[in-house]
Amino acid sequence: MSRSFRTPFHLILVLTVGIGFLGCSGPGVDVPKPQAQKVLLVSFDGFRHDYLSKTNTPNFDQLIEKGVSSEGLIPIFPSKTFPNYYAIATGLYPENSGFIGNSMYDSTMNARFTMGDRDQVENPQWYGGEPIWNTVEKAGKKAGTMFWVGSEAPIQNMRPTHWKSYDGSMPDSARIDTVIKWLNYGNEREVDLSTLYFSFVDSRGHRYGTDSEEVKAAIKKADDLIGYLMEKMEEQKLTSNTNLLIVSDHGMADVSRERIVVLDEMIDPEDVEMIEYSPSVMMNVRDQKMDEVYDALKANEEHFKVYKKEDIPDRFHLKDHYRVPDLLMVADVGYTINTRAYFESRENYPSGGAHGFDNQASEMHALFVAKGPDLKEGFRMKAFENVHLYELMAHLLQVQPANTDGSLDSVKVLLKEH
Ligand code: AMP
Ligand code: ZN
Ligand code: ZN
Repeated sequence: MSRSFRTPFHLILVLTVGIGFLGCSGPGVDVPKPQAQKVLLVSFDGFRHDYLSKTNTPNFDQLIEKGVSSEGLIPIFPSKTFPNYYAIATGLYPENSGFIGNSMYDSTMNARFTMGDRDQVENPQWYGGEPIWNTVEKAGKKAGTMFWVGSEAPIQNMRPTHWKSYDGSMPDSARIDTVIKWLNYGNEREVDLSTLYFSFVDSRGHRYGTDSEEVKAAIKKADDLIGYLMEKMEEQKLTSNTNLLIVSDHGMADVSRERIVVLDEMIDPEDVEMIEYSPSVMMNVRDQKMDEVYDALKANEEHFKVYKKEDIPDRFHLKDHYRVPDLLMVADVGYTINTRAYFESRENYPSGGAHGFDNQASEMHALFVAKGPDLKEGFRMKAFENVHLYELMAHLLQVQPANTDGSLDSVKVLLKEH
């Protein structure tokens, strides 16, 4: 081909692709441009989508009336804490971030991850993808994390401008005071994005169950904290330049000793190694026993589902990661799977609430309420998946998003036309 032909052909190709790209609804095309500068992302762990109807919540009500909300926020599967915080932070499903459970085993690292193991929680090798705080820092902006899963590890060799090692005993109001200070430093350490995390709604739900007075009191406490936060934001003139997003990682379902699945009644527990625990059990099967163990579980598939790794439903977005073990069992909502020895050594187990069930179950759906200068007023939308939040935050902060499993298109309906 002669040179004179090449240039026009390439020009046409570039123009065609370029026009095609402009034609789709990428950021900045048919999406309203934000005016506020900051995002504050708040999470109440284990706050189920319908908890607000359990008691009086005047502060949440005000946010819903003046802002946006959804019928629920759909967690990724498994509906456990760590993988969901990390999915919100990165916009990635577990098979693409590698963060597949609260407990994991990695054969290439020959290491085990548990939430209480500080060395592993702070080890960046567990965390794939790009968390939003890195995206913000890469864009020359600043982020502060008042606890968020992943923020204690130097992912991509980076750290947010402000971050804290997880300390569950830090008073809730002090967490708010610190974040308000970061957002309003008035100097080069002032942040554009901040996160804020509270665990007490989840712990009350686990201990007392979803219909308890203790959970109601926790919901009220969350509402009081939101009241305090809004007051501080107003005082520091942050209301007019901050989009406030309030979320949760998953919901909660009541469990009972009346609803259990005893592994020993189907298989020899010695034949398997549990990696992630009920209600979604991930396990490796010892040498040569795969067919025997799977067939026995499949033949007794009552109150749970069992899948070989390669047969895990696509909608779980799980099976394409090497950390996922041989077998997955998913308990029906409200059921608990464990060994006879485990049940026998704990008289009141299980009781209260649990999560980790199928993420399609409405009991697992979490909270989404938001208010700010770039969000509609009094708008409510259907439940949406939490992997879209990264794209929403990147848009609100006007930073270039990394590649994710989410899309701004899925949530742009929340944005206000200016
Ligand atoms: P789960 O067992 O899935 O209900 O996890 C909830 C618990 O995770 C909460 O009670 C917190 O104490 C704990 N948690 C949340 N964030 C962190 C963190 N960054 N490091 C260690 N533990 C955490
Ligand atoms: Zn949680
Ligand atoms: Zn929990």
